[in-house]
Amino acid sequence: MLLRRIAAAFVAVLALGGVQAVTAGPAAAAPRTLYYDAGQAQEFKAVVDQGAQIWNSRVTNVRLLPVPAGSTPNIRVYADNGWPRAQTTSLGNGRWYMGRQAVNQGYHPPRIAAHEFGHLLGLPDRRTGLCADLMSGSSAPVSCTNAYPNAREAATVNNNFATVARMPAATFVWSGSRP
Ligand SMILES: [Zn+2]
Repeated sequence: MLLRRIAAAFVAVLALGGVQAVTAGPAAAAPRTLYYDAGQAQEFKAVVDQGAQIWNSRVTNVRLLPVPAGSTPNIRVYADNGWPRAQTTSLGNGRWYMGRQAVNQGYHPPRIAAHEFGHLLGLPDRRTGLCADLMSGSSAPVSCTNAYPNAREAATVNNNFATVARMPAATFVWSGSRP
């Protein structure tokens, strides 16, 4: 009898609070998988894979995986002689370029790759000049070899993929100081 009274009180508390604790919450959503195609990244294919693995080691709500043969990738990666740059069509979809102009100036290729993937994951440029910030891009010194997002950048990406975040189409250019 006492037990039933306690149970009734518990239900009443839940009802008062208007909480949804009565039903078991849904299991955490499976991480969203984004497939990338590095087949046209030429000499940078390995560093593109490295950039993806860096993100996979820091975030939980999204995975970057090489596209299986015959499937359409979310992200296409190219290499050319311009600045590294990313063009997004929506969150998690678009293309980016491993630009030799920055590589030839000495910017750390894994940092470039992780940075450009960062745009595809919904992060804008933040030209803070700080090496600890992945999205500071070319504003950090050429000598910067940090290729990992900081905790805030990783948290933002997790938030972006925790909900159905929307991001308008956009273009981001690495734009170093020298032409
Ligand atoms: Zn950028």
